[in-house]
Amino acid sequence: MKITFLGTSHGVPAADRYCSSTMIEVNGSLYFIDAGAPLIDILLRRGVNLDTVRAIFTTHIHGDHTNGILALADLFNWYFKTAGADIYMTEQRGIDAFSEAVRTVDGEIDEARVRFKLMTPDTVYADENIRVTPFPTQHMAYANRPAYSYLVEAEGKKALFSGDLSPRLSKGDFPAYALKNSVDLMVCEMAHFGVDDARPYLEKCRAKKLLFNHVYPLGKLDEIDALDGAFGYPIHTVNDGDEIEL
Ligand SMILES: [Zn+2]
Ligand SMILES: [Zn+2]
Repeated sequence: MKITFLGTSHGVPAADRYCSSTMIEVNGSLYFIDAGAPLIDILLRRGVNLDTVRAIFTTHIHGDHTNGILALADLFNWYFKTAGADIYMTEQRGIDAFSEAVRTVDGEIDEARVRFKLMTPDTVYADENIRVTPFPTQHMAYANRPAYSYLVEAEGKKALFSGDLSPRLSKGDFPAYALKNSVDLMVCEMAHFGVDDARPYLEKCRAKKLLFNHVYPLGKLDEIDALDGAFGYPIHTVNDGDEIEL
């Protein structure tokens, strides 16, 4: 699978970073972890064939992970009429609000192509290319709302996306899957805890490579680069446009 980091910023876009969105290409089909804005603009600027978009998996409802949904759903609905997608959102109120927004601006929504779906702890997405499994995180536990990490399996490889975590790493919010199982790649956020808070988990982490995104404050970038090699596997930060082939 080919992974392209379309947006690597934290909760707010920066001069050289869009908000969170990562594109995964398998056998010519496209899947996305998170849909920070302006996702469809980025895809069009990159010359992506929108007919190859299959599914979008948002990790939680915060706008830096979902603000790209509305423009994509609207344009798929009224203009790019050969495109369609499963759009997984983590809360029914999000589905209701976004689909109603598309109805409001377009008059109606083609639910056969613009398919809003609810992600739950029991959901497993699987098609002929890819398998995506959610693991709940504590990121929005303060409001008793769901958030997820995602394990993506394709072509015999495993990539784990942490989604946003909580300041409670010490209470077990580092994705346990990567502590118990080998993964080819882990993509981890770095905005809600300190680099030193993560060290005990990085020591036990069984990733073959770890990439940090969603970094805040940016002063951490140098701290993260200093971790490279400290735990026996490569650790780096990523920038918008970076690609990795697993
Ligand atoms: Zn975020
Ligand atoms: Zn968040």
